[in-house]
Amino acid sequence: MLQGKTAIVTGSTSGIGLGIAKALAEQGANIVLNGFGDTAPALAELGAITDRHGARVAYNGADMTRPDEIVAMVKEAEREFGAVDVLVNNAGIQHVAQVEDFPPERWDAIIAINLSSAFHSLRAALPGMKARGYGRVINVASAHGLVASPLKSAYVAAKHGLVGLTKSVALECATTPVTVNAICPGWVLTPLVQKQIDARAAANGTPVAEEAIKLLGEKQPSLQFTTPEELGALAVFLCSPAAQNVRGVAWAVDGGWTAQ
Ligand code: NAD
Repeated sequence: MLQGKTAIVTGSTSGIGLGIAKALAEQGANIVLNGFGDTAPALAELGAITDRHGARVAYNGADMTRPDEIVAMVKEAEREFGAVDVLVNNAGIQHVAQVEDFPPERWDAIIAINLSSAFHSLRAALPGMKARGYGRVINVASAHGLVASPLKSAYVAAKHGLVGLTKSVALECATTPVTVNAICPGWVLTPLVQKQIDARAAANGTPVAEEAIKLLGEKQPSLQFTTPEELGALAVFLCSPAAQNVRGVAWAVDGGWTAQ
């Protein structure tokens, strides 16, 4: 379905971003991989998929706190592949603390990576999408884009902001072939969440496995983690012709978290 198309997935060296990148690659898209850490495993996994489909994967190490690098990544993808057809704003970080103890530099980083980066990439990618007559923007928000939890003021503010940005730009694009939507996962067992489970287990003196079940029990009625594969399948649907009139939604995949 995405043969000949190109997708940028920010923060795709790991977790949800990698899951979405793999699902889009399985549809034949070229992939621009982005994110920190060891890029080799993600590049190898994605390369194996793109090879099967006659597509390509390229790595761009743009730092999502740097507007100039974000814009350069979009321009570079347009130069190399001819277009950016799908933009998945997924990169994100977390920090957990009471607001009065929250380090201001952590606040700034969370707002920059989890929210402002989507503004910068959207600005750069939208004109090309409109000109070419196809575009899909998928912002990876969170259940925390819809409801709050304590100790996560910056994350909740950024994710609520990302849902707001999604709705506003979806309306601006409503009569164009570009759709803009958000995905709002509940708990997904990625490094971002594993760190929180490990910290809770250390603080409470409980086994890590027990703490994972407790974490789910507090928020996620299904008592199951959402998976990167499930989120990848939703991203594929949002890129499909059937989703052309899905605009400005914040689609929860949260095991019932925000239904309560
Ligand atoms: P993760 O830690 O596994 O992956 C985060 C990715 O972002 C990595 O590739 C990392 O290198 C990249 N990244 C971090 N800082 C960056 C920067 N400055 N520039 C470029 N890339 C950067 O986390 P994840 O759980 O896969 O999270 C992905 C997204 O999903 C985040 O936006 C997160 O808020 C959101 N989310 C996660 C969950 C969950 O339960 N895991 C739930 C809801 C929403």
